[in-house]
Amino acid sequence: MHHYRLLSNGRLIDAPLIFKVIDPATEEIIGNAPDCTPGLLDDTVTAAQAAFPGWRETPIDARRERIEALANCIKNNAEELARLLTAEQGRPLALARQEVLGCVHWCRTIAKMDLPESTRIDKAGVTWTTRRVPLGVVAAIVPWNFPFALAVWKLAPALLAGNTVIVKPSPFTPLTALRLGELAADIFPAGVLNVLSGGDALGPALTAHPGIAKVTFTGSTATGRRVMSSAAATLKRLTLELGGNDAAIVMPDVDVAKVARRLFMGAFMNSGQVCIAAKRIYVHDAIYDQFAKAFVAAAESATMGPGADERTVLGPVQNRPQYERVKDLIEATHKAGHRFLTGGAVPEGPGFFIPPAVVDNPPDDARVVVEEPFGPLVPLLRFSEVDEVVRRANASEFGLGGSVWSADVEQAKAIGARLETGTVWINNVQLLDPLAPFAGRKQSGVGVENGAEGLLEFTAIQTMVA
Ligand code: NAD
Repeated sequence: MHHYRLLSNGRLIDAPLIFKVIDPATEEIIGNAPDCTPGLLDDTVTAAQAAFPGWRETPIDARRERIEALANCIKNNAEELARLLTAEQGRPLALARQEVLGCVHWCRTIAKMDLPESTRIDKAGVTWTTRRVPLGVVAAIVPWNFPFALAVWKLAPALLAGNTVIVKPSPFTPLTALRLGELAADIFPAGVLNVLSGGDALGPALTAHPGIAKVTFTGSTATGRRVMSSAAATLKRLTLELGGNDAAIVMPDVDVAKVARRLFMGAFMNSGQVCIAAKRIYVHDAIYDQFAKAFVAAAESATMGPGADERTVLGPVQNRPQYERVKDLIEATHKAGHRFLTGGAVPEGPGFFIPPAVVDNPPDDARVVVEEPFGPLVPLLRFSEVDEVVRRANASEFGLGGSVWSADVEQAKAIGARLETGTVWINNVQLLDPLAPFAGRKQSGVGVENGAEGLLEFTAIQTMVA
């Protein structure tokens, strides 16, 4: 078994204790991760603070070059990283490869970005220059659903902007981040990039640590609230990418078979454990029955199994607590008397497998509609009027993404513009780009990730008057 170590101050180190990491498809142990102690955290924050002035003053072109070296490192080790990602996260290997190779593209794109600077000379001859400067030590806290990509999305722009970084993966999926730390240990000067894994105490210790200047966090809305309150003590800068309950609105003029297939993947890819998965699918009354039939057919023909098996379309749920939560929601849906069009029974383990479940037009206040299931469970909902469906789609505490499906793109865009979400896809779903700002409205988040705006989140403004 590989010996995983923390990356701290340029060195790979052990922690006195370790914790087990399991494969969600088999429930077998696939690795042991170091459990960072409060002392090691303090040492790492101190090292990252010490490395900050040198990295900040490193010319941006040299920083770009290091991020490009990181991209090459990921590319050269892509197959190993993808297999490890499948083993710890559960998703099919093809998707794991996409996630890892997507990070190569992400790093290369971010490495080309610039920090804006503007200068104005006023009538009195005073020069006003405004530039963007890095913040200090950034804590990057990552969830278990896209453990590799979400770490890279944070560390690449934070480093380009001149910050030093401590990456903290989820205790359920720490291995790819630890392996990246190992592979990249020599790419950055000591203390610039650090990777610390640990149990439930490590996240709160990071967000409360006075040496951290900024927290960039992706995870659930409930944890996001805790992060925000903990960060308040030292007024840390914050980016929070939180939960979603995305609506997909399917108009009556679509190619039903095609859209049903597309939305099946939009809802069930990564076994529904995607913040921007289609989680409430509103289908026009005129095509509801036809759509439901095609959607269920797609669900019933999708092969479920271990991600390492190349035939697998749907892997397991990533961890036991999430598996229990989804099972509880399925049970509550049965108890409330809502009808399943497919799924709704969960086989015995080993492995956290839940067959895709589709619920037939439950009421708007059903738990399966209001909550984010974050698993392979989705309701289909009938609608008949545009105003009605927009109101229902917006009746959510979340505001992450949404999609509109119609042969009439202008009509779809007009409907999409009325959705109270950070991203709207027209005849598409889950498409993201390193140059496109990604932000959650309402309780889906605070701040922005990706794009020029996402890069600026890792900076402060400095206006120089001369
Ligand atoms: P989570 O909130 O349980 O954990 C996320 C991370 O925070 C983990 O690393 C965890 O160890 C850490 N953490 C836990 N408690 C903490 C605390 N008090 N202080 C600091 N850190 C703490 O989330 P999860 O279950 O790993 O991920 C699933 C959630 O993430 C879903 O709600 C999903 O929608 C959301 N998500 C959002 C986005 C987005 O970009 N908006 C992307 C992916 C996932």
